[in-house]
Amino acid sequence: MKSHYDVIIVGAGSMGMSAGYHLAKGGVQVLLLDAHDPPHSIGSHHGDTRMIRHAYGEGRTYVPLALKADQLWRELELEIGKKLYHQTGVLGLGHKDSLFLEEEIQSAREFSLPLEILDAADVQKRWPGISIPNQFIGVLELTSGLLLSEEAIRAYRQLALQNGAELLTHTPVKQIYYHREGATVTTDKGAFHADQLIVTAGAWIGKLLSPLQLPVQTIRKTIAWFEAKEALYDYSKFPSFFVDLPNERYYGFPSIDGCGIKVGRHDFGQLADPDQVNREFGAYESDDGDVRRFLQSYLPQAAGKLKRGAVCLITQTPDEAFIIDQHPEYPHVTIASVCSAHGFKFASVIGQMLSQRVLQVETGFDLSPFSLKRFQKNG
Ligand SMILES: Cc1cc2nc3c(=O)[nH]c(=O)nc-3n(C[C@H](O)[C@H](O)[C@H](O)COP(=O)(O)OP(=O)(O)OC[C@H]3O[C@@H](n4cnc5c(N)ncnc54)[C@H](O)[C@@H]3O)c2cc1C
Repeated sequence: MKSHYDVIIVGAGSMGMSAGYHLAKGGVQVLLLDAHDPPHSIGSHHGDTRMIRHAYGEGRTYVPLALKADQLWRELELEIGKKLYHQTGVLGLGHKDSLFLEEEIQSAREFSLPLEILDAADVQKRWPGISIPNQFIGVLELTSGLLLSEEAIRAYRQLALQNGAELLTHTPVKQIYYHREGATVTTDKGAFHADQLIVTAGAWIGKLLSPLQLPVQTIRKTIAWFEAKEALYDYSKFPSFFVDLPNERYYGFPSIDGCGIKVGRHDFGQLADPDQVNREFGAYESDDGDVRRFLQSYLPQAAGKLKRGAVCLITQTPDEAFIIDQHPEYPHVTIASVCSAHGFKFASVIGQMLSQRVLQVETGFDLSPFSLKRFQKNG
């Protein structure tokens, strides 16, 4: 094993593994280091599925990124020869005055995305498993759906290694030493040097880069699978979905091959230290209680027996936008914190952009909304 590489990636999860794949494919000598053995169930990417949407309630900045990400996921699926993407469609539900749905509709108009707007009666007729008040609408994007997140990381891992990347699992980076040119990272398996460093350490990024005092919080989130009436909620007929309520937002996935409806609460969780977090599902009443109450009201025939639950971590900035930027003092160090519970869908394009930054190729995207400068008081 060498001790010097063109690029070292610290954290080979969703973003890091994708970046490793893109770099290795571009002929770059890359070393990926991960504290665990990705995909794994310690960070932000487990629980089988992640939603991909193009029309975007979080803001129009994300639409071009989501479209490019979609294209790259489909290319990855072809290259690996396995199913990674189920085009179930995504149905957004909420009050007709929901600002989130309004932004989604406007973003679809601006980018000419196909979006169907349905009233409550249409929604309930089309999907008898849904029960919503008359003042609600449905916003359906049939061209999007869900990604098999762990399978996707497995695919990037396999292809990165086939293209010459090296990966050390169970190898946490302890320290980073920055030099005027290059950087050194230390681990239990030795020290490694590289001309450029990419830090994609997910929920640990704040701790690993503590001198930078990144404005990120780690939040404990849960997801749960419930026994559901398969004839109503199977993925051949039921879409991925989210429901925007006045003070709560829930999201979920149809039952895939009998796994049950998977559902989570987007807007709630417990602040947590990633090394101390309670990883037991059910440790808090809300783990199971919130989503069950939600299902009973809106998807009543999916509120069956709890089949499975999982605890996951998210990393969140104050404005819920990502951080993709260079280290303020060392331009050869790139930092990417892409989460806020909606980052996975972008992993394909973010990995490509991280590799383009290293190769000094224009990414074609405006990354200023994700700069560190935005957190400076007068920035
Ligand atoms: C419950 C939940 C639901 C979500 N739903 C969606 C969704 O529907 N759609 C969507 O687009 N996004 C969703 N997300 C967000 C998405 O999963 C994240 O944005 C994404 O997984 C973050 O990727 P990451 O690479 O930053 O983190 P990870 O994939 O966790 O990777 C970070 C890696 O860094 C490693 N690491 C940490 N510290 C070190 C160290 N010191 N040395 C070496 N390695 C280290 C970790 O082991 C890990 O493998 C959801 C997230 C959660 C938790």
